[in-house]
Amino acid sequence: MNRTVLAALPALLLLAPSCLLAQAVAFTFDDGPHLRETPLLTPSQRNRALLETLARNGVRAALFVTLGNGADRPEGLRLARDWGEAGHVLGNHTVSHLDLNAQTTTLARYRAEILACEAVICSLPGFRPWFRFTFLREGNTEEKRDGMRTFLRERGMRNAHVTLDTSDWRLNEALEKALKASPRADLAPFRQAYRDHLRQRAEAYRDLSRRLLGRDIPQILLLHHNLINALFLEDAIGLFQEMGWEIVDPEIALGDFVYTLEPQRPAPGQSLLLSIARSLGHRPKEWERLVDDGDAEIEWLRKRGVLAPE
Ligand SMILES: [Zn+2]
Repeated sequence: MNRTVLAALPALLLLAPSCLLAQAVAFTFDDGPHLRETPLLTPSQRNRALLETLARNGVRAALFVTLGNGADRPEGLRLARDWGEAGHVLGNHTVSHLDLNAQTTTLARYRAEILACEAVICSLPGFRPWFRFTFLREGNTEEKRDGMRTFLRERGMRNAHVTLDTSDWRLNEALEKALKASPRADLAPFRQAYRDHLRQRAEAYRDLSRRLLGRDIPQILLLHHNLINALFLEDAIGLFQEMGWEIVDPEIALGDFVYTLEPQRPAPGQSLLLSIARSLGHRPKEWERLVDDGDAEIEWLRKRGVLAPE
């Protein structure tokens, strides 16, 4: 090795980590643990399927608890505890999943639900003072938006943003409907729609990050504690691995500077990336598929005849 190369080595070593870093994603699940009945799996089987798939793949995730979905009862609290005991993060997602953007939801009521959820989950292993806004809506007025920002700051809580928003809930609704109509329905088209949807969103949000921020960020993926993920989470993890994305701990992802930004548009919400874009006055047409609730995949399922027309 000649002298010039040696002299350049420290600089090359400093540069190397950022050059070699893969695009990263952290997995988060909302609305759990859910005790509602679904076809195929019981609530505890769904919970176990999610946890076993995460463990098998060495993925540490976060579960955002909606207390009224189950953790307010001993059997549901047990399921939430299983996440903490498995090493995952437990965060707060209110009691009744009320909508802060609704005219009838006051700031006081919204805050009271956060405190009520925290009072139950704060003693569980894995608890962090992280809050995930329901429907990713941060308030329909500046008073609510700023009131929540002050509340979270004063309570030492973090807004656990989402950047890679998905409509897995919509595909889950379609899957459950098909299974109720026909318990032996073929799952393969739903698996394909789920994979296609996640890939489309992942690529689109990566593109948006590059265009807005000039770089890849560790994306925070939103999925739900539901049947479709209990069945197909292995596919989601495999898909990101096939794309060359590194799956990282949510705590690592949240450490990125982008998650400290507070977009100033009157009612931020949805993906933090969309919120930033709108705050900056961008509204390109090609972003429509980021907010369309998975319409393209639902349409594809209808065309294949596995979903009845609406
Ligand atoms: Zn939710």
